[in-house]
Amino acid sequence: MTTRPYIVGNWKMHGTRAMLAEARAIDRAAERLIKAEVAIAPPFTLIHATRKEANLIGIGAQDVHPADGGAHTGDVSAAMVKDAGAGFTIVGHSERRANHQETNELVKEKAEAAIAAGMSVIVCVGETEAERDSGEAESVVAKQLEGSLPTGDGVAEKVTVAYEPVWAIGTGRTPTVEDVGAMHRSIREKLVAIYGEEGSAVRILYGGSVKPDNAAELLAADEVGGALVGGASLTAESFLGIIIAAAELQDEKS
Ligand code: PEP
Repeated sequence: MTTRPYIVGNWKMHGTRAMLAEARAIDRAAERLIKAEVAIAPPFTLIHATRKEANLIGIGAQDVHPADGGAHTGDVSAAMVKDAGAGFTIVGHSERRANHQETNELVKEKAEAAIAAGMSVIVCVGETEAERDSGEAESVVAKQLEGSLPTGDGVAEKVTVAYEPVWAIGTGRTPTVEDVGAMHRSIREKLVAIYGEEGSAVRILYGGSVKPDNAAELLAADEVGGALVGGASLTAESFLGIIIAAAELQDEKS
């Protein structure tokens, strides 16, 4: 059995209710393109409305606080985003690691809180340009996985990993297909080391400047189970180009 490619849009801090039209259009297309599994992570403020507009695609959050509730002004818990309609959350995105000083330990706590609340998680990892240039990319990512992945019985099936080289996010630059494949193979080894046999079924997404015109080759790289898409997920037109590429690739495989 081949798993459907998982194509997830990360809307970041973009979108007011006017963007619900894009969500509706993505949802309608997902009905036709059933060979791909599609989801979007809008800002907190749109989770509820997006869930109501879109029936078929997954809806997720971009972050959660690790605590259930309490005196954390401005933060939002896993139970709250779930109540608003989120089925998953992204954790450990490099923008949160950099802008909010999030450590691997905190990312792991957030992932475990989300799973405890009944959601699945997309755990992001990725090296900086300096780390890649100095030949440390795989060891940096391995350390992030060791520190950030949630652990415990039955947890692996709730986890997706997104490999997002920091230098490729929003820059229009991407690693070569060979480099993507090599990193994803290395992540797979680490997942099996951490989760045992269950680690072989964890999906690994590639993220970083995925566009309609490069999606097919990036998605075809070794061990790539889908894509986490930022900029190109903001309009239905460009996001659909990526979803179509994923669905066609799946057609070729089956
Ligand atoms: C992201 O931020 O998760 C991302 C992959 O962004 P972009 O596609 O814009 O590089």
